Amino acid sequence: MATTDRDYYELLGVARDASAGEIKRAFRQLARELHPDVSEAPDADERFREVVEAYEVLSKTETRELYDRYGHAGLRSGGFDPGHVDFGNLADLFSAFFGDEVFGGRGRGGRTRGADLAAVVEIDLVEAARAVTREVPFEVAVTCTHCSGDGAEPGSEISTCPTCNGSGRLQQVTRSVFGEFVRTQTCATCSGTGRRIEQPCSECRGAGRVVEERAVTVEIPPGIHHGQAIRLSGEGHAGLLGGRAGDVLVEVRIRPDERFVREGNDVYTTVDLTFTQAALGATVQVPTLAGDEDLELAPGTQPGEIVVLRGRGMPVLQGFGRGDQRILVNVRVPRRLNDDQRRLLREFDEHADERTYGKSEGLFDKLKSAFR
Ligand SMILES: [Zn+2]
Ligand SMILES: [Zn+2]
Repeated sequence: MATTDRDYYELLGVARDASAGEIKRAFRQLARELHPDVSEAPDADERFREVVEAYEVLSKTETRELYDRYGHAGLRSGGFDPGHVDFGNLADLFSAFFGDEVFGGRGRGGRTRGADLAAVVEIDLVEAARAVTREVPFEVAVTCTHCSGDGAEPGSEISTCPTCNGSGRLQQVTRSVFGEFVRTQTCATCSGTGRRIEQPCSECRGAGRVVEERAVTVEIPPGIHHGQAIRLSGEGHAGLLGGRAGDVLVEVRIRPDERFVREGNDVYTTVDLTFTQAALGATVQVPTLAGDEDLELAPGTQPGEIVVLRGRGMPVLQGFGRGDQRILVNVRVPRRLNDDQRRLLREFDEHADERTYGKSEGLFDKLKSAFR
């Protein structure tokens, strides 16, 4: 008995003239989403069943032709019984599509890829501006040398797991009104290895791996941003029974530098001038990513002016060129004057007029020069 009366093309979300490749791709996509080992959706089981049935029919020329001409009734009269889909073959089909991961994350014979590992390295902003290398310590599971990752004491017996007969997987058959449904699970007795260890390795207690302290030298590329990670392939936890090692992901954290504010590849700083320095012009020291530098400011420098040092910002990560450094000028006005100072300023003021101050740059022009 067919489990569904729904249109098979509709179920797979393909057109009626879809090619075999399109049907396969659509099925693969849906199976990934709906596989009961993966999906959390309550109706995943049923939808998965329908999708499998639709694929069973549409992936074979004879049944597809039969269905195209006569619909579900045509299939029934043609003796096709989608209720008895061969799940053994389908399981192989899945492996071909997705690898064995979909059946619990273990490869054939219990071989497993090692897990990824996270490490953190902290650097200063000025270090992020140039290439630096850092030793990054971390703890990693490595293959036990005593048993070569076997988990068994050298010379001891290893027998076949009696629960799964060595396959590492168990098939659980569920019967419902829709027919039989088979799901494959990793054998809990042997954790998918298919073996029973009579005497566990004395070094790793049968785990096949031991924890070791390690350090890697990481080259941090110039221009890296806070929170970005560097992947070190194959430096992570050892795999099981010959599975390849995981990766180390080194997260780079950049300590805030109170002298700079980073905005993308640009950096912002401020410089304080006294009002006399601003009026007379001055050479002042400003911090840059490459160290302190003398900056010459012309007489009549205005508060809010922005001096741009082109190409003095952060380098572009894995690219060319650098951002800019933008220096905001702040002018300090005296807060407390003594009698002499007050007299001098009054005298200065008597000699000053509109020409002394010149035309004031409007707010719009100031903003324009800020983004120049
Ligand atoms: Zn061992
Ligand atoms: Zn087993």
